[in-house]
Amino acid sequence: MKSVAILGGGVAGLTAARMLHQRCAISVFEANDTIGGLCRTRQTPEGFLFDIGGGHIFHSIYPEILNIMLEYAGGADNLLQHKRNTRIFMYDRFIQYPFENGLGDLPPGVRYDCLMGYINAWIEREKNGESDYNSFYDFIMRRFGSGIADHFMLPYNRKIWCTDPRNMSVDWIKNRVPQAPLEDVVKSALGMNTEGYKHQSTFYYPRKGGIQFFINALAEPFKDSIRTSTPVVSIAKDGKSWLINGEKFDRVVSTIPLDVFCTLYEGVPKSVLRCANDLSHISLLTVLVGLKIPETEPYSWLYLPQEEQGEANRLTYFTNYSAQLAPKGFSSVLVEATLSADDANSVTRQRVDTIVSDMIRIGLVKCSDIIMIDWDIVPYAYLVHDHAMTRNRDMIIQSLGDESIDFVGRFGSFRYYNMDQVIKQVRETINTRYI
Ligand SMILES: Cc1cc2nc3c(=O)[nH]c(=O)nc-3n(C[C@H](O)[C@H](O)[C@H](O)COP(=O)(O)OP(=O)(O)OC[C@H]3O[C@@H](n4cnc5c(N)ncnc54)[C@H](O)[C@@H]3O)c2cc1C
Repeated sequence: MKSVAILGGGVAGLTAARMLHQRCAISVFEANDTIGGLCRTRQTPEGFLFDIGGGHIFHSIYPEILNIMLEYAGGADNLLQHKRNTRIFMYDRFIQYPFENGLGDLPPGVRYDCLMGYINAWIEREKNGESDYNSFYDFIMRRFGSGIADHFMLPYNRKIWCTDPRNMSVDWIKNRVPQAPLEDVVKSALGMNTEGYKHQSTFYYPRKGGIQFFINALAEPFKDSIRTSTPVVSIAKDGKSWLINGEKFDRVVSTIPLDVFCTLYEGVPKSVLRCANDLSHISLLTVLVGLKIPETEPYSWLYLPQEEQGEANRLTYFTNYSAQLAPKGFSSVLVEATLSADDANSVTRQRVDTIVSDMIRIGLVKCSDIIMIDWDIVPYAYLVHDHAMTRNRDMIIQSLGDESIDFVGRFGSFRYYNMDQVIKQVRETINTRYI
């Protein structure tokens, strides 16, 4: 039986382990004291459940992957199914999402800017064709027009990416955002109902236990092979074998961040290390606010694009996912803000309080309803698609990869993947490489 070291115990590492545990001698190395990575839940002293990596829902455009996720969760009975009911909160209003389908909810002047910009961008594309976009900024301006760009897309994306969209590439997003037909945008600006794209129109969430319920169910069949609080601190090659923290393995599945892998790998070429140093990521600050009211607004979550709203970019009405996330009679909201990686170590309670005060100031939370506040930080939350990212990533994987190692996962392979895409990638990798 081949021995396999699986580096990282998030969705990617655990999916690999789930597929391999009956065929190979596996060992999962996880730095934290709990498995799950971005999908971890902890209980606060007051009895609220807190998904520390932000609000996570199950959805997929791949029916077979959605079925596998339900199977990993122990069956659909363990999950609640919801209709996605999201809004963009701006100009003190709840705007229908996607934004192009919600123009009728905006103040008239803003509606005019957005509609005219969209029409002009459409005419421009009809005249000149849809040539390649040279940056994320260029994509936003030419796809949505200046009105939607200035009022929503640019401020929101500046907030979430902590990066100027001019310095970001576009290959990761252009197929992720469908183009709303012009007719729908005109209708929506006139206040007529249009549906928008249906992607993620329903989603699942664990009935109890937060997102950790899914992680624990996924890991149940091989839980004795998981080593928590065991960071990988050294990686080396020994002939055809691998040495992980000095221990010999035949093969490796790496899901730890690719740049971290390079810094731990003995004898890594300088050119590879340079590429690794240039890979950029941002961190996440999550704030859970416990409320002494039994119900909140009916929405799933709100996007918060405006700079004046403070640094939070999203507020999730968390107990709408499952009432079991708070003690009986209480509810909670989960607020997310992204931070530059350098900022992640210096977050203070004062900064957290400012985020909560912002939510009170803009009217989303009532001060007198608050019963508790808790917060956490995830160092690796989003990878930044700067112009050199794809080249750097591919160079590293090509240089270090061979038949005995696979790089998978959101940061393990440096791809902007959701859980379903991670599971799909891992399954395809294991199915083709372990035969
Ligand atoms: C705010 C936010 C919301 C999201 N919402 C959704 C959603 O609604 N639906 C969805 O499908 N996806 C969502 N995602 C994406 C989802 O979180 C990821 O696709 C998925 O969790 C990635 O899993 P992973 O295993 O690749 O990475 P990770 O979860 O990052 O796991 C990597 C693991 O490696 C460990 N590790 C790192 N270094 C070491 C080391 N040296 N030694 C040992 N272990 C190490 C880490 O501790 C971690 O456990 C969201 C992401 C964010 C940031």
